[in-house]
Amino acid sequence: MAASAVDTRTTPTHCPYCALQCGISLDPGPGAEAREPVLLAGRDFETNGGALCRKGYSAGNLLNHPERLRTPLRRAADGGFEPVGWDEALDVLAQRAADIRREHGADAVAVFGAGGLTNEKAYQLGKFARLALGTARIDYNGRFCMSSAAAAGNRAFGLDRGLPFPLADLDAASMILMLGSNVAETMPPFVRHLEHARACGGLIVVDPRRSPTAELCADGSGWHLQPTPGTDLQLLLGLAHVLLAENLVDDQYLANRTNGLPGLRASVAGWWPERVAATTGVPATEIRRTARALAAAAAAAKTGGGGVFILTGRGVEQHTNGTDTTTAAINIALLLGLPGTLGGGFGTITGQGNGQGGREHGQKADQLPGYRKITDPADRAHVAKVWGVDPETIPGPGIPATELLHTLGTESGARMLMVHGSNPVLSSPDASKVLAGLRRLDFLVVCDFFLSETAAEADLVLPVLQWAEEEGTMTNLEGRVLRRRKALEAPTGTRGELWILAELARRLESPGTFSADAREVFEELRLASAGGLADYSGVDWDDLDAGAAVYWPCSAEHAVSRVPGQRSGTPRLFLDGFAHPDARARLIAVFPGASGGDLHSAGRLALVTGRLLEHYQSGTQTRRVAELAGAAPETRLEIHPATALAHGIAEGQRVAVRNGRGEVVARARLTTAVRLDTVFLPFHFAGKQNANLLTDSAVDPISAMPAFKNASVSLHALGDE
Ligand code: SF4
Repeated sequence: MAASAVDTRTTPTHCPYCALQCGISLDPGPGAEAREPVLLAGRDFETNGGALCRKGYSAGNLLNHPERLRTPLRRAADGGFEPVGWDEALDVLAQRAADIRREHGADAVAVFGAGGLTNEKAYQLGKFARLALGTARIDYNGRFCMSSAAAAGNRAFGLDRGLPFPLADLDAASMILMLGSNVAETMPPFVRHLEHARACGGLIVVDPRRSPTAELCADGSGWHLQPTPGTDLQLLLGLAHVLLAENLVDDQYLANRTNGLPGLRASVAGWWPERVAATTGVPATEIRRTARALAAAAAAAKTGGGGVFILTGRGVEQHTNGTDTTTAAINIALLLGLPGTLGGGFGTITGQGNGQGGREHGQKADQLPGYRKITDPADRAHVAKVWGVDPETIPGPGIPATELLHTLGTESGARMLMVHGSNPVLSSPDASKVLAGLRRLDFLVVCDFFLSETAAEADLVLPVLQWAEEEGTMTNLEGRVLRRRKALEAPTGTRGELWILAELARRLESPGTFSADAREVFEELRLASAGGLADYSGVDWDDLDAGAAVYWPCSAEHAVSRVPGQRSGTPRLFLDGFAHPDARARLIAVFPGASGGDLHSAGRLALVTGRLLEHYQSGTQTRRVAELAGAAPETRLEIHPATALAHGIAEGQRVAVRNGRGEVVARARLTTAVRLDTVFLPFHFAGKQNANLLTDSAVDPISAMPAFKNASVSLHALGDE
């Protein structure tokens, strides 16, 4: 049976996709019995101002989609799927988990979560893994997204929150330096927040590709630096060199609010612009121009002249030196005296819908709710008390996502995996290794609302609710907590993940309690996070319902207002000091060393992967929306015309993109937007179009972020068949 409308009132909620969490009004219309798309409209909200991108406008098409899973499926003897009732499905799942635990130990059962899950589901999944399954092996797809930025923020500021200020603070900026982020394509309503900086001629974009965001500079509203892939760190060292060599730094701020200047000064002394130019391909004049412009704008901002912001995205973070590169960007912001002031700041642009909240509540291998450390006895004791268990019951740290996925079914790896809200067959580096691992497992369970490429490999698939069918909270890229509201009854046959986890916990005779009610889980999350870095204890569900703008940390002592538009919690972090015990930020010397991913040998090209306007993440949802799939039906290889000529490749020709890990087949799109030494593939497509068949699973030693952005490939023109 199809979903049916609860009533015909319009529901104010938020887009199900990215971390901008644009405001949406949902009109259930005549009801989903007719399986008609649910109508959506943009709603005035601070991040989007009423605008939506193509993905957001069409998200209602997924709610009653004909491919929606409406019953649990289990692997049949003939290799296909057969429907199975919920009781039987959960009995089988619990029994297999118990058997595998008994035979191979608790860590033989692993859990893989997601940055798209609500705060309550993320919290409950971490608790379920550690208490009901007793496993240390839980990690999530945010490891592939925000881990380097989080690690850099933690060590520099003592706390990681994507944007430590409201997005609206950008609206008065005179200069914005964006590194490795393509918001014009990935979250178009973000661009309205760049307009003031553009009007000041102050948008500076660093990207090896002339992305749509870099194109924004083409009218003179800023400039674009186009470094060789994998050399962002050297470029940032060059900027720091100029700032220090020309004494363009904020001496008073550095003296009062930071540690580590002597070490940083020594570390960048050898990175003069001409040397950096030779490595990065960015002219020395542009390096000097950029550093001087940033310094001038920052000085002006301190006397009331706008603000200066430095923002990073996955382009600079998804490398084996992603943490160091993000740290180098933070160093620039600190040298200019920006973080923790009203004159600008540093931030990183979270990608997934709940990429911020998803990393705060215990899905990470090394964290407990509230950003608590799983190795810290006091943190363990606090969470154990909330959970009603002995601290010894909580396992220690697990292993990060790439290691977890690549060792599946091996002697040291897990024998069973539960996947929630993720499609690692497409989204993981060196993806064929993940597929092989999934096929080695004794038992694979996937919770999803479509038969994703990962679900297609499962022994058991559990159909779950979509965004408009459930209650909960999400935390957007600003650290602002938002209400996700139920606007429709779910289709018969589907269940919420909180209910699934509660039922499984009961069958597994888990210690602790597992509510299926989102508000009850939220109340418990508040307690578990109290006193932690990501403190939600003062966030009130009813305040969120009333439209209050609440940013964490928000302890119980914070005055919380229910007046819509009035901010509460901590909209701006670090104004009174950073989160280190001495309240000072850390300037950290970083060195290029073994930089991002594969080394490029002669005749080979650097592969950069990224997103298209029409698709979201692995495309499980957006490839099923006719409007989006029609506009971007297949992958494409963006290649410079001169490079194409050298390889005998014509516009539209099929090309095999190869390296030692795999082969992708794509049609060529000739464009001068990519460098001569670089090609670009989007990562939304499956099978032979899966860009992650080629990406490198080498990881950053600090964050365990894989080197998605800098694989080495060769090209081979194919015929037209
Ligand atoms: Fe949704 Fe992001 Fe598009 Fe906004 S920008 S409509 S949140 S996908």
